[in-house]
Amino acid sequence: MKCPYCRSTNLVRDTRNMDYDYDGESTVIKAVTGDYCSACGDVVLEDAESARVIDAMHTFHRKVNAPILKLLESHKYDSSAYSLCGACGANGLVHAVLPLSYTYKGVTAELPDVEGDYCTSCGEVILDKSNGDRYGLFVRDFRRRIDMP
Ligand SMILES: [Zn+2]
Ligand SMILES: [Zn+2]
Repeated sequence: MKCPYCRSTNLVRDTRNMDYDYDGESTVIKAVTGDYCSACGDVVLEDAESARVIDAMHTFHRKVNAPILKLLESHKYDSSAYSLCGACGANGLVHAVLPLSYTYKGVTAELPDVEGDYCTSCGEVILDKSNGDRYGLFVRDFRRRIDMP
């Protein structure tokens, strides 16, 4: 078998812990069994194991996005307006205007009225360019303020 990423044939069957980062937070997905490539470090997983890893990532997304999910739950959205979420594959994306919070070094700030697509299943937020820029600026300013001596 060849590595589908780098075409090396140095694949080794192994069980390892997988580090996973999402939105500045990290977790470890324990004991992932697959064919690990010793050339590029990537891993080829069988369907069941791949599903388990995706599921663990999804659970972690929900944990990181808990504040947004809570906010979405408190609103009543018409489920016929839902569309497909590219991040988790669920039919849970809804267009909304919500405050977005950002936590840095234990301090949380909130930016009001951010228009975007919010996933009620995994909490993913998809912003258009102007809202994305606005949120990016807000995060940068906030971090700068916290880092100020
Ligand atoms: Zn490889
Ligand atoms: Zn989603």
